[in-house]
Amino acid sequence: MNVLTKPAVIGSIEELRSRLTDAQSRIESARAGRGEAGLGRPRIVLVPTMGALHAGHLTLVRRARSLGDIVVVSIFVNPLQFGVGEDLGSYPRMLEADVAALAAEGVPFVFAPTSQLMYPDGAASTRVVAGAVGSLFEGAARPGHFDGMLTVVAKLFNIVGPDVAVFGQKDAQQVFLVERMLADLNFRTRIEVVPIVREDGGLALSSRNRALEPAQRAAARALSAGLEAAASVAAQGVGAALQAAHARIDVQPLVKLDYLVVVDPRTFLPVGGEHHGPARMLVAALVGHTRLIDNVALDLP
Ligand code: AMP
Repeated sequence: MNVLTKPAVIGSIEELRSRLTDAQSRIESARAGRGEAGLGRPRIVLVPTMGALHAGHLTLVRRARSLGDIVVVSIFVNPLQFGVGEDLGSYPRMLEADVAALAAEGVPFVFAPTSQLMYPDGAASTRVVAGAVGSLFEGAARPGHFDGMLTVVAKLFNIVGPDVAVFGQKDAQQVFLVERMLADLNFRTRIEVVPIVREDGGLALSSRNRALEPAQRAAARALSAGLEAAASVAAQGVGAALQAAHARIDVQPLVKLDYLVVVDPRTFLPVGGEHHGPARMLVAALVGHTRLIDNVALDLP
């Protein structure tokens, strides 16, 4: 590995902030030395992750590089967004491999805090509340998940101070709720959303896919196949789209469907059968003990 591109792995808020200020000053002086004026303050771009990085995460990192001057990738398995009985303990953790992958992408800073640093009192005493949409779909299956997710996103934004943060469309409800939090709480950070990265065969990449056995992985492809079938008949309406997706998914005994819904992207609430215009189909299922989610845009004429 090229030592020059090895990211600094930082576990202290003060150190991260001072390294970012230094990096901004260095970029500004280099620009001044080249006679480049008027470019403004060097931009910081954050990619929040829980680690166990795959090609989907690295696509976010590449987008981040194109959006600013200094990329920070955070790696933190946030206990606040895991419920009792969920996979917090078994969630894959592989910091060394993650850092090597980020080195190859030229990422300068990895923020990898401990839970103790993020939640010195064991759990944050102040939390962001996701509101009604936070209790639907993923929030119905995972009570408190979105409050925990928004709380850590707010903390990371305050720690890093990014101009832009990059999120994946794979977690569509997360994107909706983060965007709303930024507007409702007047954050300066804006977010950039990257399309879903899929493996050959359509399965959306996920850190949780590591837990799938080969037969489960094959069965899990029914989710993306169902969404694709739905998108291809969307011109016939919501009912036809749902039917096409069910026809692919319900025949897989290894796939235990949790929900399959079509939502209005403006409200994230389920649409009626007569809905016209942009919509998004969301799916969640258990394959073995692994919870998988996916989604696709539908255009309902
Ligand atoms: P996670 O580590 O699972 O919390 O994901 C970190 C970020 O990567 C989130 O914004 C996810 O939406 C995004 N992400 C995860 N998997 C994918 C994927 N297959 N395609 C695009 N973005 C993804």
